[in-house]
Amino acid sequence: MHEEFPTSITIDDVTLMLIVQPKAVKNINVRLCDQTLRVSVPLHLSPDMLNQVLPDLARRLLRRQRTRYINSVIDALALARQVALRFPQPLAVSDVQFTTNQTACWGSYSTRTHAIRLNAVLRLMPAWVMEAVIAHELAHSIHANHSPAFWSLLRSVCPDTDRANAFLEGVNWLARAWENLPAIERAQLTHTSDKKGNTPA
Ligand SMILES: [Zn+2]
Repeated sequence: MHEEFPTSITIDDVTLMLIVQPKAVKNINVRLCDQTLRVSVPLHLSPDMLNQVLPDLARRLLRRQRTRYINSVIDALALARQVALRFPQPLAVSDVQFTTNQTACWGSYSTRTHAIRLNAVLRLMPAWVMEAVIAHELAHSIHANHSPAFWSLLRSVCPDTDRANAFLEGVNWLARAWENLPAIERAQLTHTSDKKGNTPA
């Protein structure tokens, strides 16, 4: 008696319906249509073997789908070009893409292609934070370091620089600490941010 293939899979808290079809194929083929993952597998493949490789395949497709969606609804290019105009010497921006696989940094700017890449999380933050990250990456094309000259240029084109840095430091801290926060403190943080606008007593 053979085991059954699972009918759903959860990746990064997103649950996808899973349709597995054994076929006379050599490789595992995966397609993601909305919330349904269609998988064709070689005839001899066991559910166990599929379970070993499917999460990575599904995660890649899910991130690609999300990236496509984000880039279709947000026009960050206009904002980036507006920021680029504030520099003493004009900077070109050819393209702005949000990415979902950039975990280590907030953004980048290529002096070769003039394309800006932004961490997709930025679009959920206040607009002035994203603007500051764009300005930061553009300023690196003039100063490839964090020297005093870099910061003074950046502050001159983006007055929100220090505020945005502090905001992102807070985000970084919370992201690192979240998993290990005691339940009560975690609930307190959620509760506090629910009542934003109220002055803390
Ligand atoms: Zn930097």
